[in-house]
Amino acid sequence: MLKLYNTLTRKKEEFKPIRKGFAGIYSCGPTVYWFQHIGNLRAYVAWDILKRVLKYDGYKVKHVMNVTDVGHLTSDQDEGEDKVEKAAKKEGKSASEITHYYFDVFSRDFSKLNLLNPEIWAWATKHISEQIDLIKKLEKKGLTYRTSDGIYFDTSKFKQYGKLGKIKKETLQAGKRITLKEKKNKTDFALWKFSHKPGLRQQEWRSPWGIGFPGWHLECSAMSMKYLGEHFDIHTGGEEHIPIHHQNEIAQSEAATGKKFVNYWLHLRWLLFSGEKMSKSKGIMYTITALEKKGYNPLSYRYFCLTGHYRTQLNFTFKNLDNAQKTYFRLKNIISELKDDKKLNERYLKEFQKAINNDLDTPKALQVLWKLVRDKKAPGKVRTIKKIDEVFGLDLFKQERFAIPKKVLDLIKEREKARKEKNFKKADKLREQLKKFGYSLDDTGKGTKIRRIK
Ligand code: AMP
Ligand code: ZN
Repeated sequence: MLKLYNTLTRKKEEFKPIRKGFAGIYSCGPTVYWFQHIGNLRAYVAWDILKRVLKYDGYKVKHVMNVTDVGHLTSDQDEGEDKVEKAAKKEGKSASEITHYYFDVFSRDFSKLNLLNPEIWAWATKHISEQIDLIKKLEKKGLTYRTSDGIYFDTSKFKQYGKLGKIKKETLQAGKRITLKEKKNKTDFALWKFSHKPGLRQQEWRSPWGIGFPGWHLECSAMSMKYLGEHFDIHTGGEEHIPIHHQNEIAQSEAATGKKFVNYWLHLRWLLFSGEKMSKSKGIMYTITALEKKGYNPLSYRYFCLTGHYRTQLNFTFKNLDNAQKTYFRLKNIISELKDDKKLNERYLKEFQKAINNDLDTPKALQVLWKLVRDKKAPGKVRTIKKIDEVFGLDLFKQERFAIPKKVLDLIKEREKARKEKNFKKADKLREQLKKFGYSLDDTGKGTKIRRIK
């Protein structure tokens, strides 16, 4: 039985699918105006585990992820510049060059981290007509109003506004600190923004209300409902989405359809760096490429993510990543020595399932894996670890292919020579030196085996 913590009810609940044997998931995806940093990627690792657990539990999964290539403003309050337009201006490129370039980099990182591709990548600019149709529905129900800046959703007309973030009604009234300008309530949000000077923006479209572009929240409602239906199982996002973005998604979707939008809302807590959210705007961010340049395997980062539960903050430091990489390599090295006895260890598998099905408790599930690995008497290690790795996605049986630096190769050669000359003291000294570089050597009947240990 899979249990998931639902932000909507603030409880861990048993997952009950809408359709037997099927799970529909929508994940808020990247805004493709810049590189996705490892904080962003922590989110996708978490939802990848969710997807793999559902598949492991026998569900057919349809996973939809949006690609925001328009409408995400520098402030979540419908103000500021469009992030994509701003980047295009700065880099002297077209908006589409920008969004495709950063999406391609993101896709590469996605596969380096062994993330299963969503069944559908939904690009916002490819779904403008669906977004316009949704506004029309809301307009027909009298839930929108016009300002000089765009078409807005009137949150005071949606009774349950705030249920996800447990925002109190009284805080919804005309803001004291937030300037309302022409907004009726401070929580009202843009569905459509006007291009004040058509032709100035690269991305703008005709609509019944004038030339402009959709508000950021709208794309997630329009696209999730298009691909998963008006009522679907699971919606995921980062913790910062709770008070505004997801609240607004619920409001516009449920107001338009009159149905419950989503059954389970899952939110990830942030990856921190020096005690703060890792984010581009704070100027502290690392990419997968940057980690690779420092000698880290992307899957060591995946392992690092699994050491923290998705609902707890995870502190990124290079020391923590070093430890994760060492542990990950040690695990793979031990596993590479195991012999397949063609058995399955049901007891350990059950223990693993219990941990992972308990709101995706990856740290606990990793403990079970280590317990199995260290259990000298346990039968069925190979097959059981293979099953477990269907969920972890750590390539635990894949031979590590790594480029050995020239300096290390020279030391290995020197050691070989010393061994041939029967100068074992020198050979041992060189082996110790190699360990410091992160390589261990085992002399076997079939020659010397080189392993990376950190
Ligand atoms: P963005 O590209 O800014 O729209 O963000 C993409 C995803 O990354 C969203 O789901 C965010 O919630 C998530 N995210 C951003 N920063 C972090 C962080 N430091 N830790 C975890 N998730 C994050
Ligand atoms: Zn979204």
